[in-house]
Amino acid sequence: MAQRNSSSPGDSELNDVIRSFLASPPEGTPAEIIDAFDVKGMDEFLPPRLFLETVEQAPVAISITDPTARILYVNEAFEQMTGYHRHEVIGRNESLLSSKSTPLSVYQDLWNTIRQQRVWQGKLINHRKDRSEYLAELTISPVLNPDGRIAYFLGMHRDVTELHQLEQRLQFQKSLTEAALDAAPVAVAIVNAERKVLLDNHAYKALLGDFRGVEPADLFLKALEMQIGLDLVQVCHEGKGFSNIEVRLDPPGSRPPRWFACSGVRVAELDEAAQNYFRSHEKTRCCLLLVANEITASRMRTNEARLNMIRASMAEQQMVQTMREAISGAIFKMQAPLNILNAALAMPESNGSPDNQRGVMRQVLESGDEAIESLHAALPGPTMEQTSLVNVNELLHEVIRLQTDRLLASGVVVDWRPAPVLPSVTGRANGLRGLLKYLIDNAIQAVDESGNEYREVRIETRADDEEIVIEVMDNGPGIAELHRLKVFEPFFCNWAQPRSHAGMGLTMAQEMAISHGGSIVIDPDFLGGCRVIVRLPVSGGRSVE
Ligand code: FAD
Repeated sequence: MAQRNSSSPGDSELNDVIRSFLASPPEGTPAEIIDAFDVKGMDEFLPPRLFLETVEQAPVAISITDPTARILYVNEAFEQMTGYHRHEVIGRNESLLSSKSTPLSVYQDLWNTIRQQRVWQGKLINHRKDRSEYLAELTISPVLNPDGRIAYFLGMHRDVTELHQLEQRLQFQKSLTEAALDAAPVAVAIVNAERKVLLDNHAYKALLGDFRGVEPADLFLKALEMQIGLDLVQVCHEGKGFSNIEVRLDPPGSRPPRWFACSGVRVAELDEAAQNYFRSHEKTRCCLLLVANEITASRMRTNEARLNMIRASMAEQQMVQTMREAISGAIFKMQAPLNILNAALAMPESNGSPDNQRGVMRQVLESGDEAIESLHAALPGPTMEQTSLVNVNELLHEVIRLQTDRLLASGVVVDWRPAPVLPSVTGRANGLRGLLKYLIDNAIQAVDESGNEYREVRIETRADDEEIVIEVMDNGPGIAELHRLKVFEPFFCNWAQPRSHAGMGLTMAQEMAISHGGSIVIDPDFLGGCRVIVRLPVSGGRSVE
């Protein structure tokens, strides 16, 4: 132990100071201070000399002062930390350590606290004997004499400069990373295996607002699960990431769809637990760094071109359809008189019709049959179309866009409520577009004929178990109960103004739904208009005929 100045308290006095402090430590005394002195527990002190040795060699700078901060004792760590030998500081005020850079208010707080016999903890900027500065984390505990007045102050401090530098560096790195992430035009989120978002950026938060508080990460993950069978738990534990997977999200309200190129990288989760110190080589918990780059603008450009192609192909399809309807209608109408002729000819000759008349009837029948045959031959065959994975939201959106002029002309408000994320359907895109167009055309015609001032068509989609449900609603006159099945029959047309309608639309729509393993019904419980419900199996369900 280093030599002691004559003005310092004797061993037994020093021992008494510490003992009386430990006997009733002031409220708020940190446990580490008590631990530093109470080497074997409060009730069982070491022999005085050994006890002093322990304090002397404690790894923190310890000083004992009188009530005016005049130093009475310092330990070895104090000497090492400050560069002062104890005989240079004993008898002097602790202020000799002050670098004069600590604000006055800090000292005022320090003194106000300890004078009220409370423990003060805080940071001060000290300087060593060589004037080099360091940041001291200081705890001062008052030690009371038997009549309850302050007898000594016990000071304990450690150099936290490096810790502070580390904290500053970390803070700097963090704000740098956050600034870089926030400035990035892509949405970034870190998601753990429980789908909890641990960190995100400005662009992500903006998306959260756009999707009215629905966690975008959840929407992206759902879409990725459907599209590439992503298993978040598996990816977080050992799986590989993914890159540039295109995901379509449909925001709430009648807002247009948005597309994102999503990438994901597996990153280790922060693990600060001391018990895991030696486990770093073992499997650590990981999470997913999800990056979503919005590509809506470029997708819209390609979609515009695609839409023009779809428009052309639908116009062609419509023309073929109209021809089919016209020819089928002609066959249907011709068949009736021919049937009557057939029936008349089937009657026995004795019923009075002269031979020459029967001959004429036979001729008429033959030429009628020939005409029907040539009409059948002229009937354009159904267009064969390849099946593919289709997104029903996308098809509906295209059909609505293609109907924009008609909707505007009829003053119809479209309330478009797509499911934000929808599983794909294996189907014929053109055929399904045709189905949806029939329904929307009918809804527009219905609200047109209703004469209602407010005309609304609401279109909703949702995933229901293994099916996709599409609902097309209008606030038109609705369909009477006795017509609810009839409307699906060929050539049934009940419009007030049939125009070019041949009554084949719902028949074709039903055929299309059935050929996709789905169904189409008129909701009998819908009041105030008509609701048509289409159900289609999601891909992987029933196959398309
Ligand atoms: P000062 O004029 O001494 O004090 C500044 C302000 O502090 C004053 O305006 C006043 O409001 C208040 N003040 C000072 N002395 C008293 C008093 N006796 N009673 C009431 N209020 C008072 N300071 C350090 O800079 N570094 C240290 O490591 C450090 N360790 C300390 C350890 C102990 C156990 C104690 C009791 C004090 C310690 N101090 C330390 C505080 C130190 O005593 C000085 O108060 C401080 O350094 C400011 O000194 P100064 O000369 O700049 O100003």
